Amino acid sequence: MTEAKELKVEDIKKSAEEKGCPVQKALYYITEFLSGPMCGRCFPCALGTYEAKIRLRNIVEGRGTEADLSAVERIAEDMAEGSLCKKGKDTAKFILEWMGTGVYKEHIEGRCPSRECAAFIEYRIIPEKCIMCGLCKNVCKYGAILGEKKESYKSGYMPFEIRQKRCVKCGDCISVCPTDAIVIIQKKQVEVEVKV
Ligand code: SF4
Ligand code: SF4
Ligand code: SF4
Repeated sequence: MTEAKELKVEDIKKSAEEKGCPVQKALYYITEFLSGPMCGRCFPCALGTYEAKIRLRNIVEGRGTEADLSAVERIAEDMAEGSLCKKGKDTAKFILEWMGTGVYKEHIEGRCPSRECAAFIEYRIIPEKCIMCGLCKNVCKYGAILGEKKESYKSGYMPFEIRQKRCVKCGDCISVCPTDAIVIIQKKQVEVEVKV
């Protein structure tokens, strides 16, 4: 059951800004905006925000096209011009501000620069940095990590690796790895960036 809540757009914006990716910010913002009561007094806001949400989701989930980009821009511009209240105009301003980063276009080209959108990234283990402690395997709730913990009485170990098909990109493994052996790479990126 969804409870109707009257959120101020500035508050929604503040929470949206906690995300790193500008497309995620906009999607979060619009989703929260639509979860509140909608007065529906003017067309660009009442209908545009629904369409914007669909288009933004396409972009975040890696299905985005130039048509989605243009649609979001057109909706925001129409809202900026045709909204009857400040709430609608502010919403348009925020969306255009996030679009102005140029990151939306990068998503269409297959990259999320802040490595936040799951569709564009992969988690990988750098074998040279892995000490085979097994902490990542223990913490992964999805059975996505293969490998055998290094024990002093054993010889011949299985290197740790992440099964991409099982990984949901939750990030739990990164937070427990003691040697920063797990990195996030862009699917399109050839070289792996290792944080030293
Ligand atoms: S812009 Fe304001 S008046 Fe128009 S539909 Fe949105 S919230 Fe209602
Ligand atoms: S990101 Fe999450 S699902 Fe993927 S391997 Fe790490 S802990 Fe498992
Ligand atoms: S937590 Fe890090 S060091 Fe330990 S097994 Fe996993 S990748 Fe290797």
